[in-house]
Amino acid sequence: MTVMPADLTGIDVRAEIERLRKERNAVILAHYYQKPEIQDLADFVGDSLELSRKAAETDADVIAFCGVKFMADTAKILSPEKIVVLPDMDAGCSLEDSCPPEKFKAFREAHPDHIALTYINCSTEVKALSDVIVTSSSAETILQQIPKDQPIIFGPDRHLGGYLSRKFDRPMLLWPGVCIVHEAFSETELLKLKAKHPDAPIAAHPECPPTIVDHADYVGSTSGILKYANEIEGDTLIVATEPHIIHQMERALPNKTFIGAPGADGNCNCNICPYMALNTLEKLYLALRDLQPRIEMDEDLRLAAKKSLDKMLEMASSTVGKGDLGAR
Ligand code: SF4
Repeated sequence: MTVMPADLTGIDVRAEIERLRKERNAVILAHYYQKPEIQDLADFVGDSLELSRKAAETDADVIAFCGVKFMADTAKILSPEKIVVLPDMDAGCSLEDSCPPEKFKAFREAHPDHIALTYINCSTEVKALSDVIVTSSSAETILQQIPKDQPIIFGPDRHLGGYLSRKFDRPMLLWPGVCIVHEAFSETELLKLKAKHPDAPIAAHPECPPTIVDHADYVGSTSGILKYANEIEGDTLIVATEPHIIHQMERALPNKTFIGAPGADGNCNCNICPYMALNTLEKLYLALRDLQPRIEMDEDLRLAAKKSLDKMLEMASSTVGKGDLGAR
């Protein structure tokens, strides 16, 4: 349920967030796709894997999670004793929506010899039905630890699964989900942009379709793209992922130019995640004030989902194939 902001006239929302953060012993975690004003006051900004690790190790009493619901659910799975609030409970994800647990369960049952390697962008129920969770920054490391002859189901992102399958020559049964944001990039518009900036490399998130990824000089998670931005020799980078990540790039590298890859008409906002955009400073303030909307879950379900997440954290720390998805 979306929180309808109360009348906050006369309230200094930033100052109140600061006061409540101390009073509640709260930590504010934010994903790179959040609005700049939220990123700027977060205690930590990161990708899904980094945020999972932070949620697991924090000693705060309250986690205010500025991201989408499956991320806040993950924080609760890993830190059940904490109060976890999400500024807007309607902040979902098209990948999670594409994979209803009962259908995923039937799919698994139809392929009993396969293990389920599942992208973290899924519901708690689907995590509970999976063997190992991956993030875009840990998928390569984890996949390389699975024996070559072990059949794999990969869901719910068919583009990430397809990219891994092609790169490692590992056939996988792919669940047909997509991210509506990364699906919206236009190959035609990207090539027009590249023609204007022929020396600028392209960095793409693996949630993009092959028509985008195949033109990329670097494919990786949000944190991987940030590192790549630091390493490029030139001063301009074309970025094919949710454009709010450019805020972190411009903060860290003010002398470089970052250009967001275009959507279908070359000039739309279709690459801004509409779910992430639901979180606002006002809703974050209300969440810290009221400790609502709060993530709650059944304990048996939590423990079942935790197994596949723990497996991810363990396997992601391995030195086998260490690293992000990396250069193509
Ligand atoms: S950018 Fe795509 S994958 Fe990420 S939360 Fe939004 S809809 Fe989901």
